[in-house]
Amino acid sequence: MNYDLIVVGGGILGTFHAYWALEQGKKVLLTERDERPSMATIRNFGQVIPSGMSRGIWHEFGRKTLQTYKEIQAQTNIGIRQNGATYFASCPEDFQVLCETHEYYQSIDYPCQLLTPELAKLRFPHLKDGYNFGALHFPEEVTAEPRTMIYRIIEFMQQKYEHFHYRPNTPIIELETIGDRCQATDSWGNTFSADFAIVCSGADFRTLYPKVYAESDLMVCKLHMMSTYPQQKTVLHGSILTGHSIRRYGVFKDSPSFKDLPPIQDELSNKFEYNILFKQAIDGSVILGDSHEYVPAHQAERLSIDSDETIIQGMVDECKKVMDLDDWRIQYRWNGYYAESASKSIFIEDIDERIQVVNGIGGKGMTTACGFAHHNIEKRWKNLPEETDSICN
Ligand SMILES: Cc1cc2nc3c(=O)[nH]c(=O)nc-3n(C[C@H](O)[C@H](O)[C@H](O)COP(=O)(O)OP(=O)(O)OC[C@H]3O[C@@H](n4cnc5c(N)ncnc54)[C@H](O)[C@@H]3O)c2cc1C
Repeated sequence: MNYDLIVVGGGILGTFHAYWALEQGKKVLLTERDERPSMATIRNFGQVIPSGMSRGIWHEFGRKTLQTYKEIQAQTNIGIRQNGATYFASCPEDFQVLCETHEYYQSIDYPCQLLTPELAKLRFPHLKDGYNFGALHFPEEVTAEPRTMIYRIIEFMQQKYEHFHYRPNTPIIELETIGDRCQATDSWGNTFSADFAIVCSGADFRTLYPKVYAESDLMVCKLHMMSTYPQQKTVLHGSILTGHSIRRYGVFKDSPSFKDLPPIQDELSNKFEYNILFKQAIDGSVILGDSHEYVPAHQAERLSIDSDETIIQGMVDECKKVMDLDDWRIQYRWNGYYAESASKSIFIEDIDERIQVVNGIGGKGMTTACGFAHHNIEKRWKNLPEETDSICN
């Protein structure tokens, strides 16, 4: 079959490029190297939090993502739960930044609610008293179940769109423009042809266009993650974020008082870059994380293959300062990897006028990839004006 679009990579970025092209009535082939996608899209927290994104277009991409997940969830169960996101202040200075952020979101009509320490304790009885300086709550935000969501979305697309072909076990090893078509070849020797191709191959920097990646500023980030056994009693609602997130996430950096935040000083921060986050999965287990370790994309092999017990234990100790769980035993540990540009919000490279590489969305892909892909596909087929600068910066 002659396709309008070939998408390489069945993670969240590739799948939603396919989705939006299908919504425009295009014939689409989505190819996935593995039997099932198994990389960043499967290994993450599942926090869908436009509230944390930088002001402007990335927040908008988050809102489009939120709306689309809810629309799909209304048609079939993809595991999306509207259970909100809450940022807990670790000190009075954090709360001041949350107050300013609350004011900003009110000015752009994004629903949020400031919680006094009393209200925070009422809604989150497991919050430690020593970590209760107030909170900012976003009732519209959702959590996803990353271990299953992408499989369910692809199944949904297979049922809904006649012109959608999904090919797992199809590693594309060559992709080039020949005449007025682009041609993809997989490792089995099959070839596929389309008007246009988009490559969303995540942290695989060796198979397609290794030179492009080697010359880019793309980094690969390794994260340590863990989850507890299902809790017997503890119930945590939605995405839980902390003072670490207030220091890391784009939106807070625009607060006038951001510059007054005291650095978080603990033993772990002196050794590793990390964030403290919680999310309770549907089975009652609590996902905890995460640590961040970066190397240039073309040197990904430099990252240790091991899980470091010092990091795991250090993060559990930090989590214990924030919440009381009834069971802190760790059932699973895993590593996740994502690609991130050192200088831009996303990496976009036009190989030629028919082949585009889109990668390096970093730690915000579950929140923004769907919205970004919507914009990218509309731009191609509806000839929207180029806004690459505001998107990439
Ligand atoms: C531990 C962790 C926690 C995170 N938590 C969150 C969170 O809570 N909220 C949030 O918004 N974001 C989060 N993220 C970020 C988010 O998961 C990523 O931004 C997103 O999943 C990246 O999606 P992707 O499609 O670019 O890459 P991937 O998910 O890596 O997908 C790329 C796919 O391409 C396939 N592929 C590669 N090469 C080829 C080829 N040649 N041919 C065919 N297929 C190929 C791969 O097999 C893979 O399935 C987290 C990430 C990690 C690692």
